[in-house]
Amino acid sequence: MSSHKVFRISHPKPDITLLPMLGMDKEHITHDFKHYYSHRLGRDEHCRSPEYAYKAISLAISDRMVERWKRTYNLQRNQDGKNAFYLSMEFLLGRRLSNAVMNLGVDNEVAKGLYDLGLVMEELVDAEPDAGLGNGGLGRLAACFIDSCATLNLPVTGYGLRYEYGMFIQEIVNGEQVEKPDHWLRNGNVWEIERPEYITRIKFGGRTETHIDENGHKRICWVDTRDVLAMPYDTPVPGYKNDTVNTLRLWKAMATEDFNLQEFNAGDYAEAVAQKNTAENITMVLYPNDANENGKVLRLQQQYLLASASLQDVLAHWVGRHGRDFSKFAEKNCFQLNDTHPSIAVAELMRLLVDIYGLSWKNAWQITLQTMAYTNHTLLPEALEKWSVPLMRQLLPRLLDIIFAINADFMAEVSARWPGDKPRQARMSIIEEGSVQYVRMAYLAIIGSFSVNGVAALHSDLLKQGLFQDFYALWPEKFNNKTNGVTPRRWLAGCNPELAKLITSTIGDGWITDLSHLAKLKPYADDPAFRAQWRQIKQFNKQKLIDLKQQELQIDIDADAMFDVQVKRIHEYKRQVLNILHVIHLYDRIKRGDTQNWVARCVLIGGKAAPGYAMAKRIIKLINNVANVINNDVQVGKQLKLAFLPNYRASAMEKICPGTDLSEQISTAGKEASGTGNMKFMMNGALTIGTLDGANIEIRDEVGAENFFLFGLTAAEVEATHAHYNPRRLIQQDSDLQRVMHLLECGHFNQFEPGIFDDILASLKSPQDPWLTLADFRGYIDTQKRVEQLWRDPEQWTRMSILNTAASGKFSSDRTIAEYNRDIWKLAPITADS
Ligand SMILES: *Cc1c(COP(=O)(O)O)cnc(C)c1O
Repeated sequence: MSSHKVFRISHPKPDITLLPMLGMDKEHITHDFKHYYSHRLGRDEHCRSPEYAYKAISLAISDRMVERWKRTYNLQRNQDGKNAFYLSMEFLLGRRLSNAVMNLGVDNEVAKGLYDLGLVMEELVDAEPDAGLGNGGLGRLAACFIDSCATLNLPVTGYGLRYEYGMFIQEIVNGEQVEKPDHWLRNGNVWEIERPEYITRIKFGGRTETHIDENGHKRICWVDTRDVLAMPYDTPVPGYKNDTVNTLRLWKAMATEDFNLQEFNAGDYAEAVAQKNTAENITMVLYPNDANENGKVLRLQQQYLLASASLQDVLAHWVGRHGRDFSKFAEKNCFQLNDTHPSIAVAELMRLLVDIYGLSWKNAWQITLQTMAYTNHTLLPEALEKWSVPLMRQLLPRLLDIIFAINADFMAEVSARWPGDKPRQARMSIIEEGSVQYVRMAYLAIIGSFSVNGVAALHSDLLKQGLFQDFYALWPEKFNNKTNGVTPRRWLAGCNPELAKLITSTIGDGWITDLSHLAKLKPYADDPAFRAQWRQIKQFNKQKLIDLKQQELQIDIDADAMFDVQVKRIHEYKRQVLNILHVIHLYDRIKRGDTQNWVARCVLIGGKAAPGYAMAKRIIKLINNVANVINNDVQVGKQLKLAFLPNYRASAMEKICPGTDLSEQISTAGKEASGTGNMKFMMNGALTIGTLDGANIEIRDEVGAENFFLFGLTAAEVEATHAHYNPRRLIQQDSDLQRVMHLLECGHFNQFEPGIFDDILASLKSPQDPWLTLADFRGYIDTQKRVEQLWRDPEQWTRMSILNTAASGKFSSDRTIAEYNRDIWKLAPITADS
């Protein structure tokens, strides 16, 4: 960078960083806390805002993490082994303080130290804004994965984007979702370290030129580009009590320093400076669409910035150590693509190796094919990313050329394998033909990767049989499954300290890093004294959840009611509407006086709708309207409550899952790739009512069919039903369903808002309803009755709850990551004594 002057210190000695390690005891930590509080932040005892105390303790903890982070970095560098890089457009980290304190093993010392100063740790923890750099499951998975990588001592670096605005904040006004911007960085971010020394330059636009280099080889130059800089920010990622601290590197887009003043005459200086904004817009905001592609130019710019900056970073590091010798590059590096979002990386690695480092096409392709691995996250056609060829030609002309070249080679391979099979060639081409051509990003990812995995057994099978069947026929060896998991540090040890304590005092603390130990709890399910303790903790967690929500929701919740919870993104395939139909059915029964053996329920539903997804937003309105009617009906009283939990996010889930009795996992079979909310609930002792979808199937396999409330069509039955689906007949044949539909259609829940639910009703009654909601109504209602039967026997319920936690060992992301490493990455763990 011409205008970026680098000053260097002449002769730094190693002593420059030689310091004794900071103390991990209460005294040293509180000393540093006070120092930051009073000196860096300039506060004293008159300051009553918990935010500064949160910041001061975080700075003290961050210092300790940074020591280990640098040490880990040097260890990994010196061992010169293989590294993996997890490329993801989303990292839904949530809060960092409590996790850092737990993983560093200083939770007790910190809590005691703060208590001595009159501070309550939990209040400081709650002052931290969520790092909401993700939509839902996919982004949270990336966060769980980097936690597990660090805990397993694996040299894995996360690469993502540092969005200025994270997932929007959801408010509910008159029952409807209102989006507020989430400026999560407004008060600074103590967990990141800016790394200007690793700024990279990203090209956009321009055109390509061919010329002959000094060796007579044809070289392609990408010229006349409009460049943007990517500034890395490192967030240390601590492993659990193992002194490993890995790196999450997030890129922020910036204007180049030499932004083009020449293009403007002197009078337009301000105009030129204002141009900076277009560059910085690239990482301004996270796109709030879950399981839905979007096609906006800015989104493609984001994807390319992530791929290009990350690959340039890795290659620059490689060349710094090995020069331009790439013969061992593939042995030493692996890139895991989290969905198709970063799959332009396949073409970008080719560009860097061929255009910048001068490798032959053939050699570069070998390297690419040995280093890229792709994880698919969805079968929903609306989520499969496609970019129009004209858009790509304008924005990334060199990348488009490379994609066409990759496709030409690939088409030759396909026609060699299936000579003359033109339809198959058209089906498999990266380029979708039509009046406008499109680039199919998933195909680029499959063709350029040595590994393609789905995220649960069913999902991986459906990929092979359906969406990617042609590719499976060609390269069966590429396809594999990696069932998702969640980190037990955040999702059990951290969020449910009471239960964690009981578990540890019963079976020891080995479960925290080897969740299969939870199986040792199984015999205790038959121990009445243990069950009593288990039940007491669930009750305590429910009360905590009530205390938290009572005020905000303004309804009277009874801790003895069954807490029946569905929290996840609002989407038709997740079928929040089916849940509501059941609630309306219960309401109808109360109104009819059909309340023998009644089980009091509190139904909680939460989740964000994509701002452009009208149907999902209408579903939120429906939930709130039904809640209003039910909660204000004196005849209903405590027998049934319904509440919408606003602004569902990671930190909310940490409070919700420990207090849940019944976990709703009721998607249309074959549509939820895996789900991970289902796993968090199971770990925390909720029973699941669910369909045979995603990881639900494996959850049921682990816990046993007798400990899982199954209902609904199978994925195969769903496919077979579409041809003859007749929802009107289902309504006629089922008097319960008839009454529920009648209440909705007569406007019982929208007396002063006529017609607002017509779209929802029309889709329920449509023979084309892709989600077959009414097909599963009867099974769902009957299964909910079985749930109630069990609830009436608290001993049996508790027994099953214990068995669910005991069987949840498989769903640790440590197990998932160990499998990624065994089958795909093949990294050696790195510790000080390895
Ligand atoms: C776990 C989690 C999800 C994923 O939930 P699913 O039920 O698997 O869709 C989404 N959002 C947040 C905040 C989560 O913590």
